[in-house]
This record gives sequence, structure tokens and C-alpha cells, in this order.
Amino acid sequence: MTRALCGIALHPAGHTLSPLLHETAYAELGLDASFTVHDVAPPAFGALVAELRARGMTQLCVSLPHKEAALQLADRVSDAARAIGAANTLTAVAGELRAENTDWIGVTAALEAHGPWTNRRATVLGAGGAARAVVFALRRAGMDVRLVNRTRARAERVAADLGARVGSLDEPWDLLVNATSVGMSPDADATPAPAESLRAGALVFDTVYRPLETRLLREARARGCRVQDGLEMLVQQAVEQIRLWSGRRADPSRLRRAALDALRPS
Ligand code: NAP
Repeated sequence: MTRALCGIALHPAGHTLSPLLHETAYAELGLDASFTVHDVAPPAFGALVAELRARGMTQLCVSLPHKEAALQLADRVSDAARAIGAANTLTAVAGELRAENTDWIGVTAALEAHGPWTNRRATVLGAGGAARAVVFALRRAGMDVRLVNRTRARAERVAADLGARVGSLDEPWDLLVNATSVGMSPDADATPAPAESLRAGALVFDTVYRPLETRLLREARARGCRVQDGLEMLVQQAVEQIRLWSGRRADPSRLRRAALDALRPS
């Protein structure tokens, strides 16, 4: 069997954990695969995909700002990716390029241990690509979902597309999800929700994982909330990406350990 050609396209490249997660899984599963980081600006994304296809690519993970463009380049788009409006994975299967979104699977897996969630109320902060995957996952879990976003018109679009509604932080919730980039390093002093709005006993899930304990999670813990950081979502969406091309399931705890080592301040 020839070596699998995998990688990620993003811009700017920044500090992506994807090579570490995927290479850790390849080593664990004994998969013969390479993983390359492609830092390409939007105008060059289509040419990159064409070139990789010509070279026999197996899988290209797709990050910002290419997740919407990836849908247009695929021969087939999964129902979830179409509904979310973004793909984070392009996988070649029998000569066909398939677009999939594994972020929502990561969200579902990260929340599973805290459930059940059917008929519970969620407030999602944000209306970008991550928020769309979060809302899709929560609606699939049977939740009543409200969106709060800096740009209201964007939240209205997401709500209409995915069966949620636009609301405010004052309304009651059982689950609060931060799907904005607020609180992410280097702006780790920022928080997307004032501490007074956090309700004891409810779950606060921050999709931000750099830092692992954001100000939002610190304040939520102090106010008696349960908390979930963003690393589990990242790990679980990668596990699903690897399964899509190899049919094998990597051990999430190994990937988590590798990521924790890399995220630990030196
Ligand atoms: P995006 O499409 O660029 O959306 C960014 C969102 O953040 C928008 O809703 C934006 O509001 C909001 N925002 C940005 N700066 C803000 C500010 N200063 N005040 C209030 N709102 C602000 O990005 P994305 O792909 O959705 O990613 C968002 C975050 O999700 C990332 O930063 C990352 O930490 C996290 N994420 C985590 C995972 C994981 O696996 N754990 C995966 C993907 C993403 P406007 O609409 O008003 O601009």
C-alpha cells in the first residue's frame, strides 16, 4: 500500500495542533501516512486542492478561512457539512473528493458525558463557522437553541438556517457555549459573558482551547457552574477525521495527552 498523503490547509498557519494530533494517531494505529501543513491564502486554495488531488492525496483537513470554499471543491458533500455550510475535511474515496464536517461530532462527543440534553435550553455565543457546527450538534441533540452574537444579522442567518433563534444572555439556559474567539490567547483577559450572567449548576462549554482554562471557565467554576474546555472537541473531531480515511479509531486519551503536553506553558 502506498503512503497516505494527508495534511491541513489554513491561513495564517499560527500554532495548529493538527499535525501533532494526527501524527500521534498514525503512530498509535501503525498507519503509514504523512501530514503536511499548507499555509495558503484564499486565492490559492483551489490550486492547492487540485495539485494535491493530482498527487494522490488521501485527506486534507481544512481550517480558517477555507471551510466554505472546501464545499465548492468537493464531488460530494455530506448532509451535515451542507447544513452547517462549511467543511473541515476533504477526503478522497475511490477517486471522489468528499466534504465532511467533523466539528459537530467533536461538539457532540464533548457534551455527551454531561447530558442528556434533549429538550434542555442552550445559549450559543457567536455566529461563525464554529457556532454553526455547535448549533447543528445541539439541535441534533434535541436542544432549544438561542444565539447571541456581536453582529446580530449574522446570528439571524445562522438561526434561520439551523432552526435556532436569536436571544439574549438574560434568558435562562442549561448550557452556555462560547463559540466566539473571545478569550483566546493572546487576549486571554477577555471574556464573552460577564461573570454575573453565569448560573450555578449549569454547564459552560468554551470551544476555545488556548488557553485551556479561559477566563470564562475560571469565572464559571467560581460561580458553581460545571465546565467543559475546548480540547475534547478538538481531539474528537480529529479522531473522526482519521476514521474517515483509515476506518480506524484512534484513542482520544492519547491524543489529549499529546495536546496537553504541547499546550502546557513552558
Ligand atoms: P469565525 O468564523 O471567524 O467567527 C468568529 C466569531 O467570534 C464571530 O461570531 C464573531 O462575531 C465573534 N467575535 C470575534 N471577535 C469578537 C469580539 N471582540 N467580541 C465579540 N465577538 C467577537 O471563527 P470560527 O471558525 O467560528 O471560530 C471561533 C472560535 O471557535 C475560534 O477562535 C476557536 O477558538 C474556536 N474553535 C474551536 C474548535 C475546537 O475544536 N475546539 C474548532 C473550531 C473553532 P461577529 O460575527 O460579530 O464578527
